[in-house]
Amino acid sequence: MRSMMFAVATLAFASAASAQQAPAPAVAPISAEMQRTVERLRARALQDDTAWQTVEGLVTDIGPRLAGSDAEARARDWMVARLRAQGFTNVHIEPFTIPFWDATREEAHIISPGAQRLVIAALGGSASTPAGGLEAEVVRFTDMAALQAAAPESVRGRIVFVDERMVRAQDGAGYGVAVAKRGNCAPVAQRLGAVACLIRAVGTDSNRFAHQGGSSRQRESAHLPAASVSPADADILARLVARGPVRVHLDIETVTREDAPSGNVIAEIRGRERPNEIVLLAAHLDSWDLGQGAIDDGSGVAIVSAAARLIRELPRRPRRTIRLLIAGSEETGVFGGAAYARAHANDTHIVAAESDFGAGHIYAFGTRFSEAALPYGRAIQRQLAPLGIIMGPNTADGGADISGVRATGVPVVDLSQDGSYYFDYHHTANDTLYAIDPEDLRQNVAAWTVFAYMAAESDWVFAAPAAAPAATQ
Ligand code: ZN
Ligand code: ZN
Repeated sequence: MRSMMFAVATLAFASAASAQQAPAPAVAPISAEMQRTVERLRARALQDDTAWQTVEGLVTDIGPRLAGSDAEARARDWMVARLRAQGFTNVHIEPFTIPFWDATREEAHIISPGAQRLVIAALGGSASTPAGGLEAEVVRFTDMAALQAAAPESVRGRIVFVDERMVRAQDGAGYGVAVAKRGNCAPVAQRLGAVACLIRAVGTDSNRFAHQGGSSRQRESAHLPAASVSPADADILARLVARGPVRVHLDIETVTREDAPSGNVIAEIRGRERPNEIVLLAAHLDSWDLGQGAIDDGSGVAIVSAAARLIRELPRRPRRTIRLLIAGSEETGVFGGAAYARAHANDTHIVAAESDFGAGHIYAFGTRFSEAALPYGRAIQRQLAPLGIIMGPNTADGGADISGVRATGVPVVDLSQDGSYYFDYHHTANDTLYAIDPEDLRQNVAAWTVFAYMAAESDWVFAAPAAAPAATQ
């Protein structure tokens, strides 16, 4: 609503202003036929429950889908069968291998001053504790900077606890800061002589669920057991440490395997006029394994595939090819996105986008287009406006699984979801279907359908202003 008022005000101002005043941003016209098709697609998407059925099927028939696991392999086969049944073409798996990691035990208890269980999750890449676990006094730091500045004698032989909090934000802006401790706690704590590392869970809730997550840097340099502590238990730990010495028993057992099988699932709607020009829609199939991977990223898989299916059912396919990249092994190091970028380095990607931020209501359409292509970006936003979507900035990120193609200069867009509550559930045992609102899910499908159709049916080139560095996980 705010953007509508802004647009009207800008237009009125422009018409009354002199020639040297900046004109209203140009919006590319679209054909009457495209307008009719977009309206039909938008209306159908808002009635369509295919996305719900997909994510419900994934979490029910498969469940959690840890990267490189048998469950992830079953999910690939499940997805291939579903996409073929929905009429996609060129449906296939592109295999690759990854270093597999899983925790088979992750337990922690406060031993003194009073016995209490702590709900924890081993961080991806964590080492095992010695058999039977380890016990040590806890030393707390308010953030990573405090740990980095610590004297080794205050840390040596202890369990480090980094108690940094994550800020709640609609766009998830708090994640980048909070996630730094997940990757850095173990190597820094190890250098200072600690025996293990605990972090306050990277999340915005106050529940008793630990948040899983990768700590990929441990693979290269650190051999320290590392785990995330549920927010409620992190609070207990912080209060106890403030009162006196606290001893914790930590027992983590992990398994690793080199060259575990993973893979990307690919499916297409072949373009009727320009089949070699690709509109890439991505999501990832793997998940952490305490929850069901409903919002991370079952919903993304459901949203992009349901949007593409609605376009496939049109009487006439769009000019360009719409390709789905249902990536494997995102969580443990964006292996699927990297494998895709390597395998398809010579493909002509017109634009790429990923849905990997849950199923919250989309509120903005951001681009990373050349200036010359922005009028068509605004034309797409106009068709998204009835869904409550404003124009976002021209600095879109795209998403982890398309960061590889983005780094080669492929334009990307963000269909920005309201992530205010995403990190309450993210990577926890509570990432289940209950975290998804079916109405928001349909709004997501409608927005993706409009964007994908308008990108694939146009002959606009969106070439990005400059190659951006690849995003980290
Ligand atoms: Zn994800
Ligand atoms: Zn994730």
